[in-house]
Amino acid sequence: MASYTAPRREFAFVLRDVLNIDRLQELPGFEDAGYDTFEGVIDEAAKLIEEQLWPLRESGDQQGCDWNHGDVKMPQGFAEAYRMFWESGWAGLSNPAEYNGQGLPFTLAQVVNEVMYAANVGFSLTTMLTNGCFEAILASADDAVKDMFLPKLGNGEWTGAMCLTEPQAGTDLASIRTKATPNGDGTYNIEGGKIFITSGEHDMTENIVHFVLARLPDAPPGVRGLSTFVVPKFLVNADGTLGARNQYKCVSIEHKMGIHGSCTCAMQFDGATGYLSGAPHTGIRNMFVMMNLERIMVGLQGLGQCELALQSALAYARERKQGKAFNGGATIINHPDVRRTILTMKAITEGARVMAYETTLHVDAAHHATDPATREAANDWVELNTPLVKAFCTDSAVDLGSMAIQVYGGHGFIRDNGVEQIVRDSKILCLYEGTNGVQSMDLVRRKLGLNGGRLPKRFFAAVRAEAADPALDFIARPLATAVDELEKTTTWLQQSMQDNPNDAAFGCVAFLRAFSLTYLGWAWLRMARAASKLDDGAFKSAKLVTARFFAAQMLPEVASLCARVRQPTTEYMEWDADAA
Ligand SMILES: Cc1cc2nc3c(=O)[nH]c(=O)nc-3n(C[C@H](O)[C@H](O)[C@H](O)COP(=O)(O)OP(=O)(O)OC[C@H]3O[C@@H](n4cnc5c(N)ncnc54)[C@H](O)[C@@H]3O)c2cc1C
Repeated sequence: MASYTAPRREFAFVLRDVLNIDRLQELPGFEDAGYDTFEGVIDEAAKLIEEQLWPLRESGDQQGCDWNHGDVKMPQGFAEAYRMFWESGWAGLSNPAEYNGQGLPFTLAQVVNEVMYAANVGFSLTTMLTNGCFEAILASADDAVKDMFLPKLGNGEWTGAMCLTEPQAGTDLASIRTKATPNGDGTYNIEGGKIFITSGEHDMTENIVHFVLARLPDAPPGVRGLSTFVVPKFLVNADGTLGARNQYKCVSIEHKMGIHGSCTCAMQFDGATGYLSGAPHTGIRNMFVMMNLERIMVGLQGLGQCELALQSALAYARERKQGKAFNGGATIINHPDVRRTILTMKAITEGARVMAYETTLHVDAAHHATDPATREAANDWVELNTPLVKAFCTDSAVDLGSMAIQVYGGHGFIRDNGVEQIVRDSKILCLYEGTNGVQSMDLVRRKLGLNGGRLPKRFFAAVRAEAADPALDFIARPLATAVDELEKTTTWLQQSMQDNPNDAAFGCVAFLRAFSLTYLGWAWLRMARAASKLDDGAFKSAKLVTARFFAAQMLPEVASLCARVRQPTTEYMEWDADAA
């Protein structure tokens, strides 16, 4: 069976010893936000998730969701679990207290989320989309719309759904056709069809709030002509009670490869009442407020699945006996190839965790720091890290899911053992909230050049400041080489974007991986430094061995990835794919 418990020891090490989370206390409103306070919150949330959500992972996968004439029934136990989840205050951890949230740091909410994303990623999607919907309305709507929806979205009593995708408009939101026409009373008439809408309909809450991208009659073409509308399932009366059922329907749900515990709905809006959120034609900006945070959260979904794969594979490898290894050991963890696989999983998961939480700490600083220079620097880091966290953590989830199956051998291929579900559940993470190809293009096309190219410069300087540590030469040296390669390739890409964008775009996925591995090298250097000060022998030695493994076995990949990026691609692009 797959196995998982929240990695409490890892959280303490990464957040307290490596990233010094106590620095959050310098931000206004977070004066009490030290790790000692966090530890209790994380432990309480983890117990609840382990006891209530983890047991629903497999049953939710097997049962899936059920559509019946527009109604959607979630798998058994989901509605009760969701009620327990929001009623006990876990749904709105980082939402502001004025809208019934807990007002805690984004970072803390994401630690709790990581546990939920590992234990039951299908279930977790509703809460993730609700957070996104909350953020988008908070950032764009007027006070009347905020007051109507945010108090109940803020604590999770109602859930949110994000309605962007249409059959002809996936990545290319410019081709969205859904229309919004003024009703003359300040509301809008929404007409059109949306597909792939997560939690568009379900039986877990009394109301569902859709955040919809649509076009006003006078809209210019393309993404500049999109506006955002809040479209609730039930209209809300002036006294806050629920009114008439709105004019839309869930016309079907998808049958998917994974995340069966999440319903993916085709929605038809037939004259539904909507409220404009933000100024006309600012829809894409309003959506990106939530998309940027959601991309980090999807990365954390990937991280959660990596941890699940790692724990499952390690537990199995410690118990499964097959043959005798060269060292005389009877369990498969003693076979060098199995050990190499487990160390790869460990190096990626634990390194990616540092990258992910360093990013969430920057989000907290970007939102709450009072000093403009601190906010500016934090914003730069968030911009740079978001595509890395989203794409690297989610690609790794699929890779590590596959590695876990390999460690289980044929037993990994059997449904009852629960590890093949990791691959099936994780693949979608590479696709939604902007495919990983699109994330890589975002890195190369936008982030490398943003603000005069200062984002990668910040990264190179920060890594170099720590990569000259003679005490940690085993990783400091290969890390310095990796940064040099990455910088050379960054310059090449910046130039190629001007001269021949096809060359730059062709290598963007390899470049994102090279960037992420270098980031993980920086993370492992800092983990090795922090671990060397620990007394906990087994934990310390595992960290130091994994740091050495990463430095020797994984960091050298950066140079070959970079060499692949710096290649002309004219021949490939001139190949007539239609004629083949
Ligand atoms: C289970 C599930 C849940 C979802 N939930 C939601 C939801 O809640 N709300 C919502 O609105 N949508 C949702 N989606 C939709 C999802 O966000 C889209 O599927 C995704 O944006 C990709 O769009 P597409 O499927 O049309 O692929 P396409 O856009 O057709 O892309 C196909 C391929 O072409 C590549 N490509 C396309 N354009 C470019 C480009 N400009 N540069 C480089 N490469 C490019 C892509 O990377 C991809 O590899 C969900 C989808 C699924 C399957």
